[in-house]
Amino acid sequence: MPDCLFCKIIKGEIKSYKIYEDKEFLAFLDIFPKSAGHTLVIPKAHVQWVWDYPELGRYFELVGKLARHLRRVSGHEVVRGLVYGVEVPHAHVHLMPNQTDEFDGKQLVADKLLALAKRYRF
Ligand SMILES: [Zn+2]
Repeated sequence: MPDCLFCKIIKGEIKSYKIYEDKEFLAFLDIFPKSAGHTLVIPKAHVQWVWDYPELGRYFELVGKLARHLRRVSGHEVVRGLVYGVEVPHAHVHLMPNQTDEFDGKQLVADKLLALAKRYRF
């Protein structure tokens, strides 16, 4: 979808802070994070709703792996997961280490995001 923000991120037209990528999926840091390591996991194919992704099993297998990875790296037992889906019309799952917000959801500066991306790379 030409006007889709996440499709532009997938194509590299907009910079993102990737922590994981394969042929089918991409995981990158939310630039308006609630906590350190706040990640968005998306399929590369443009599908509006998570529930309509044809390989939902594969999608959530990866979401689980990434959540366990974030738990290990962050040291927080709790990794919040959220399928909200109304901010950007491209399927995405939020993963947020820590049960309380460390950040207030304002945009983080690039240096901080870069450091977090290095730390949380899977
Ligand atoms: Zn899209």
